[in-house]
Amino acid sequence: MAVLDQLTSQKAIELESKYGAHNYHPLPVVLSRGEGVHVWDVEGKQYYDFLSAYSAVNQGHCHPKIVEALTNQAATLTLTSRAFYNDMLGKYEKFASEYFGFDKLLPMNTGAEAVETALKMARKWAYEVKGIDENKAEIIVCENNFHGRTTTIISFSNDPVARKNFGPYTKGFIKIEYDNLQELQETLENNPNVAAFLVEPIQGEAGVYVPSEGYLKAAKQLCEDYNVLFIADEVQTGIARTGRLLATCGNCTCENKNCESTPDVKPDVLILGKALSGGAYPVSAVLANENVMNVIKPGNHGSTFGGNPIAAAVAMAALEVVSEEKLAENADRLGKLFREELSAFADKNDLVKLVRGKGLLNAIVINDSEDSDAAWKICLKLRDNGLLAKPTHGNIIRFAPPLVITEEQLRECISIIKNTMADF
Ligand SMILES: *Cc1c(COP(=O)(O)O)cnc(C)c1O
Repeated sequence: MAVLDQLTSQKAIELESKYGAHNYHPLPVVLSRGEGVHVWDVEGKQYYDFLSAYSAVNQGHCHPKIVEALTNQAATLTLTSRAFYNDMLGKYEKFASEYFGFDKLLPMNTGAEAVETALKMARKWAYEVKGIDENKAEIIVCENNFHGRTTTIISFSNDPVARKNFGPYTKGFIKIEYDNLQELQETLENNPNVAAFLVEPIQGEAGVYVPSEGYLKAAKQLCEDYNVLFIADEVQTGIARTGRLLATCGNCTCENKNCESTPDVKPDVLILGKALSGGAYPVSAVLANENVMNVIKPGNHGSTFGGNPIAAAVAMAALEVVSEEKLAENADRLGKLFREELSAFADKNDLVKLVRGKGLLNAIVINDSEDSDAAWKICLKLRDNGLLAKPTHGNIIRFAPPLVITEEQLRECISIIKNTMADF
């Protein structure tokens, strides 16, 4: 078999199974092309993508502006490492810092790396600025969090599959219940060595848990009261996904840059990834103001690829698309429509328990136990009916289409979902 021959789905799956590590359990569909809200499998069947690569493809597959930035830069200069300056990084750092309203940006590649960066930064800040004794800093995290898969990050996960037999674990983390202000306050009160509180504005992987109204704002206030950094992991919720540029922003549907409204919550440290590149390239970043970012000195942290010229060009284009195409506004409007339609359906249908989410980050909960295979089976049926989604748990399916989806397309998808559920 020549390497470039078109594979059948069956063959492609067999190859991955035989030669690849089995660290994922993909839905059996083999994709070979994408455009906007659609992807096509190797046999040519078209699907709506309702996962968007875990919200990395908010701008739609192969967005022409992002692809152009990528290919132009790829033909010009790809990588210098940070041993030398390049003519794209500074431009991007200025652009993105202003775009999100922070003094500075530290560029990395993946979400997990950006989370690691934020944790290191918070610890160093705790010792050098807050004045905590060496090696005593604690970071508060939430139960059922998802922040990535590095050794340190899984140390404070409570997913047994992500943790088991990967010990010994990194110390220095205190886990509290999500959406519980009282526990946050007690933990802060009882632990003078807290450097930071790390939180997802909506818990995505856990099953799209939206916290109570005002939770983030109050949590940020508590952090201020105790001189603790509020770190928002917006790798999944950020970049227009939840109907605003950032989920930690206020009730606006801001396209930023020109947005005049005061953010509801301004994190001390903001973690971005996924859609920062529109899915075209691995790009992540940590943003903070000078008082925090300046603790990082040459040699403290780095990455060979972090801040490379392609990443810089791609991220600027990807963020421009978000503003130009008003993706936050679209996510806000269509998200409401999606929840309205599917909530009404859930009221009449025994299979669907409820629908929850914000913007175009939504989940339906199936009337079944956490460890059932109902969600998986429904996803297989959805696939047959031309829509790709993935369970986050045995009974929860996340629905997160690219934010470029139109109302007409969304209505068609809502019928696919309803019909599939009704048949089940
Ligand atoms: C996906 C995700 C990460 C990890 O990003 P990777 O690029 O997969 O390392 C971290 N935090 C959140 C909230 C995520 O959704």
